[in-house]
Amino acid sequence: MAAATRLSVRNIHKSFGAHEVLRGISLDAHDGDVISLLGASGSGKSTFLRCINLLEIADQGEIVVDGERIEMTMKNGHAVPASRKQVDRIRAELGMVFQSFNLWSHMTILDNVIEGPVHVLKRPRAECIAEAEALLEKVGIAEKRHAYPAHLSGGQQQRAAIARALAMKPKVMLFDEPTSALDPELVGEVLRVMRSLAEEGMTMLVVTHEMGFARNVSNRVIFMRSGEIDSDGPPEELFGKGGSPAFRQFIGTFGK
Ligand code: ADP
Ligand code: MG
Repeated sequence: MAAATRLSVRNIHKSFGAHEVLRGISLDAHDGDVISLLGASGSGKSTFLRCINLLEIADQGEIVVDGERIEMTMKNGHAVPASRKQVDRIRAELGMVFQSFNLWSHMTILDNVIEGPVHVLKRPRAECIAEAEALLEKVGIAEKRHAYPAHLSGGQQQRAAIARALAMKPKVMLFDEPTSALDPELVGEVLRVMRSLAEEGMTMLVVTHEMGFARNVSNRVIFMRSGEIDSDGPPEELFGKGGSPAFRQFIGTFGK
C-alpha cells in the first residue's frame, strides 16, 4: 500500500508588493518522507515553510494537511483562511523549528515543552509532564528540565525546541535552517536528533545548508531557485549526475 500523503501543496504563489517570492510551488510529502529544501538565500525557502503553517497566507494555491484542506475565503480582495479554528488545529499538527530556537525565555525548559499540550490541546498536566520528560530524555537534555533557556547552549536550546514541537505529536515537522545559528561544534548534536526522528519515520521538511544531512538522511532533495522548484529527486540522483546546471553550481559552492 502506498504511504499516506501527510502534506500536499498545490501551486502556491506569494508576493510581497511587486516581488513574487513564490511562483507556483507544488509538493507532496508522504508518511516518513524526509525532504531537504535547498536553495540560495532569498530563493523563498522560509516563505514557503511559513505559507505551509499559515504564518504567511499564500495569494494562491492549496494546502492539504493529512487529508484536510485549508479552507480559504476572499476578504478585501485577499485570500484569507475561512476558519480560525481550522488554522489553530492545522498549526498544531505542524511542528515548526526555527533557526533562532524561539523558546520562551521566562519559562523553564519543561514548561516550554508542556505549554502547547496543556494550554492548546488542553490535556492533563501530569500526563504532559511525563511525556515531556521522556521527550527531553530522547533529545538528551533531561537534566536541563528545570533550567531556563539562557542557561543552555545553542545546541541544547535547539534540542529543547525540537522536543517542544514533538510534544504536540505533529503529523509533519518543518525545520527552517535548524543548525544555521549554531557554533560548528554544536551542529552535530542537533543533526543526530533529527536523524533519529527521520529513522523513526517522522515526516519532515527541512530547509538546510547541511549537505551531509541532505545527502545521507533525506530521501528527497528539492532545490529552490527564485521561488520555483528547479531540481527535485532522490539524493543519489541529484548528488550523482542529476540536477540542473544551477543546482550543480549551488552544491559546488559548498565544497563538501
Ligand atoms: P530564503 O529563506 O530562501 O532565504 P525568504 O523566503 O526568506 O528566502 O525570502 C525570499 C524573498 O522574500 C527575499 O527577497 C525576502 O527579502 C522577501 N521577503 C520575505 N519575507 C518578506 C516580508 N515579510 N516582506 C517583504 N519581503 C519579504
Ligand atoms: Mg530562510
